[in-house]
Amino acid sequence: MIDKSLSESWYDLDTVIVYGMGVVASRFVDKIIQDFQVPYIIDNKKYGTSYNNIPIVAYEEIKEKVLKKEYKIVVTTAGATYSGIQQTLERDGLAEEEDFCHIEQFAVEWYRMNRKQTNIIEVHTAVTTRCTLNCKNCNMFMPYYPQDRWKNYTFNEMKEDIDLMLKYVDYIFWYIFLGGEPFLNKELKNIIAYIGEKYSDKVGHMGITTNGTIIPDDETLVQIKKYKVRISISDYTKTVFYEEKMVKFLNKLDEWGIWYIKNQMSDWKDFGFPREPFQWGEDEASSHMRSCSPLFHGVNDKKLYYCHVIWSAEKAGLYVNPEQDYIKLTELDCNKESDKERVSEYCRGKCKDGFLRFCMLCGGCGADNKKIIPVGIQEERK
Ligand code: SF4
Repeated sequence: MIDKSLSESWYDLDTVIVYGMGVVASRFVDKIIQDFQVPYIIDNKKYGTSYNNIPIVAYEEIKEKVLKKEYKIVVTTAGATYSGIQQTLERDGLAEEEDFCHIEQFAVEWYRMNRKQTNIIEVHTAVTTRCTLNCKNCNMFMPYYPQDRWKNYTFNEMKEDIDLMLKYVDYIFWYIFLGGEPFLNKELKNIIAYIGEKYSDKVGHMGITTNGTIIPDDETLVQIKKYKVRISISDYTKTVFYEEKMVKFLNKLDEWGIWYIKNQMSDWKDFGFPREPFQWGEDEASSHMRSCSPLFHGVNDKKLYYCHVIWSAEKAGLYVNPEQDYIKLTELDCNKESDKERVSEYCRGKCKDGFLRFCMLCGGCGADNKKIIPVGIQEERK
């Protein structure tokens, strides 16, 4: 969530230094290289190598040049790493938003300010409300969906959502399919092919978030491979016993040479809802939402959600979202610059009252949620 602004010295920029060349950077760096001259990439682990003929250097190596403030720095790391880099740069006399900024701010604010483009860092679309697991603390509330609300989205429904979204959005860095368990939806391959063919200039990377319990069929793997879809695996095998399936899943991805990352967390933050909803007051809801600040936004059912979690709460029939918490994409006019601006502002967290109403009930992912629980505890299926 951005509530600050880049200084005017960022106008008409044509050269930047990129700081960070890890997993987060891989989502952004190609677009930056395409749009700017990049004399250096700073990365204190990968220095001595290069990327697209751009030298990767350690910070200390070019510190002198950096301190001359000839170039702005765009930090392409996750938020937690950014804080440490921010401290280093500020200690050396550089100022945030004057000399450097985080990629989230740059990707959204700079492009809006200078190119009148509406960019979104990360958009999620749920392709199914069904899951192979039944995690009690699922932040998409899957165990709480009644059976008559289980649904695999059709190709046409998913196509309508992305088509509508991209009328107002110029570039999405990261478009992720999730669920439930997305490989339960056999139309997944068709929507990957559609986006890959039609929107390669507007969608940077596609990704799938899966629990690794279902091995995709060959037709799906063909599309994943063709469009370099990145697989993010939430590994719950420490809590739920499906190691054998996981091994088969990983072997299959290796066999096809598909990029993946396996995340084995031990803890989650408990969102509380719907079992024991939080009760944040109106006076604390705005700072609570800021503390959470999800990078991901959601598109489903022709609506854009600053936070995709609230889409799922309503889809499950657990909550009715007030209209101020989402944007109906069908009611916008893509010829109006003001409507594109509205989408951009909303994705930066600017909404009525300064917070989403659902945030008052939700623990969120921020530092102010102290309820930590083990991952993947299963709820008995009813
Ligand atoms: S507190 Fe909950 S509803 Fe609010 S932004 Fe965070 S995850 Fe979304």
